Amino acid sequence: MLTATETLDARLIEKARNLKKQKNCLVLAHNYQTLAVQSIADYVGDSLEMALKATETRHDIILLCGIRIMAETAKLLNPEKKVLLSHAGAGCPLSEMKKLTDLKILQNRHPEAEVVCYVNATIDLRAASTVTCTSGNICRIIAALDKEREIICIPDRNLGNWAAYKTGRDLIMWDGYCSVHDQISAAEVKKVREKFPGHLLAVHPECSLEVCQLADYVCSTSQMIEYAKEHQKVIIGTEIGLYRQLACHYPEKELIPLSTRMSCADMSKTDLEAAVDTLAGELNEVNIPPLQQEKALRSLERMFLLLEK
Ligand code: SF4
Repeated sequence: MLTATETLDARLIEKARNLKKQKNCLVLAHNYQTLAVQSIADYVGDSLEMALKATETRHDIILLCGIRIMAETAKLLNPEKKVLLSHAGAGCPLSEMKKLTDLKILQNRHPEAEVVCYVNATIDLRAASTVTCTSGNICRIIAALDKEREIICIPDRNLGNWAAYKTGRDLIMWDGYCSVHDQISAAEVKKVREKFPGHLLAVHPECSLEVCQLADYVCSTSQMIEYAKEHQKVIIGTEIGLYRQLACHYPEKELIPLSTRMSCADMSKTDLEAAVDTLAGELNEVNIPPLQQEKALRSLERMFLLLEK
């Protein structure tokens, strides 16, 4: 006997399937989305993986279940497609913490500097940067840049601190942070590690440097999934949605969330109903002004070029 929620979900899943077919739509869901939302997705992954997946598709519409900057990345790489964001209010406080004017101040002080911009930033910031990076490749990007040039690294200080620590480069940074990851203290991590001495710890580099230094592996969400596949006992140090996904897919493993407080309000805005309504009404279309499109795409393409070095 199905519960009321399960019955509702089953109806919505059926409706989503029909709408996808009728509208020739590809559904992409981020690793932090709920299992119900992931169940209607054609592909589940991190921000960049989703955008790249969209480049391989012949679908007319892309519904991105996640946050605004992710839908914008999908639009950058697929300008001819109609890209919909699953919930109009799903932003990212980290991406909106600082403005273009703040970057201009830094650039005036350091006119020759490279600007490395994490993909979790507004489209203006990405358009004003010289290269985009992800949490999984920031160290490779920084290491590939000219040693003689200064580097401004925005918007996340924790990601920047981690990259500076790993590459030995001095980075000019802001004090931006993701409150979901930044709230975890080193003391809390030590306690969890003491409680589960046989477990490995994987954390996202949006956590503080002190927390990253206590981890066995510092990685993006997709790298964390691979790590959990390869090991039996892992503490998952990122947004709780990833732990839920892994616990569901690998029930035989001994996985533990680093903290159940690591829940992102913006990622949680999309539920199955919101995703289905968005698709039904073709709501929340993402559009990027042509100049920003050109510049932000150039910054993203430079990332791919540097990764080939
Ligand atoms: S987890 Fe942090 S970086 Fe990711 S969407 Fe939420 S606030 Fe932004």
